[in-house]
Amino acid sequence: MAIISALCRAAGTLSPQSILLEAKSACPDLGLATVYRTVELLERCGCLRRVWEPGGRESLALAGAEHGHHALCKRCSRVVEFSTCELASTIAGAAKETGFVIMEHHLELLGLCRQCAKSEADPVR
Ligand SMILES: [Zn+2]
Ligand SMILES: [Zn+2]
Repeated sequence: MAIISALCRAAGTLSPQSILLEAKSACPDLGLATVYRTVELLERCGCLRRVWEPGGRESLALAGAEHGHHALCKRCSRVVEFSTCELASTIAGAAKETGFVIMEHHLELLGLCRQCAKSEADPVR
């Protein structure tokens, strides 16, 4: 419960280490091994999604949609989930080209969130 509420409170992604830090206030006995185990469980049931931050750091974000992806803001690190995913023809093409049976895919979009894009377009005078 402490792990889930830490993730709910976060506006962005959390690494397992930062989940531990956040959740420790509610659950002082929590250890990193438990965080990893719980994260794996939550990921398997589709409640969490792995997100790769710029630079390759792996983090976690809550997943609402059954199939969705995340957009990451490069300025404030906010993550927003979106459910539009029309990769079927790309995947079919890749399967044909490589002979692979494609089982999963990861998609992440990097950019500026609405607020950051707005402040970019509206520079401080
Ligand atoms: Zn932003
Ligand atoms: Zn997808």
